[in-house]
Amino acid sequence: MSLMHGYLVGLTLFMISSKWSKAIQAHMFRAEQLARNSICNSRHGCAIYRRNTPMGLGWNKDKTHPAAIACYSQCIHAELAAILSMSEEQLEGCDAYIARIMRSKNEALGMSRPCRICMQMFRRAKLRKIYYTNRSGNWTMEKI
Ligand SMILES: [Zn+2]
Repeated sequence: MSLMHGYLVGLTLFMISSKWSKAIQAHMFRAEQLARNSICNSRHGCAIYRRNTPMGLGWNKDKTHPAAIACYSQCIHAELAAILSMSEEQLEGCDAYIARIMRSKNEALGMSRPCRICMQMFRRAKLRKIYYTNRSGNWTMEKI
């Protein structure tokens, strides 16, 4: 009985301490799963949502793409991979979730704030917010 009580108290505390809604947590999880598809050393995944509808999904890739050659030296960033399946008008008002999964450190989350070029791309397309994993392995949010 006391074990159950402790569990429930723990669960309640967890729910109160979590600052993200269930839907946002699900979108974050989606971005983390996408990052696992990457075969690059640094694995990033990006999920772009309009409210709760996934609009574009991607992960970073080594191969080049005509749209990437002008911007990136080596690979297509997850953010670009995600928006390649969308039109630029579709991006307006969307939120992007970008995760990095480390190969070492038991697949801990790593820094995944969009680079300068991806950030410019998002600003131009009028995204609302970006959520990304940070250096301490937590999710953080920035308004664009
Ligand atoms: Zn980038």
